[in-house]
Amino acid sequence: MRCRRCKGLLVKERIYDLYDTQLHLDAWRCVACGDVLDALILRNRVARKAQ
Ligand SMILES: [Zn+2]
Repeated sequence: MRCRRCKGLLVKERIYDLYDTQLHLDAWRCVACGDVLDALILRNRVARKAQ
């Protein structure tokens, strides 16, 4: 998987919710520019495209 901004390498990262640490999600972070792609962002993007 590659970064959509700089085509850098994305690494998988686990993000924890600030208020409820039992809630977490897997995200992709670019090692080059630090851009973060998480499942929610991806889902929103797909939803927007579908409308
Ligand atoms: Zn990047």
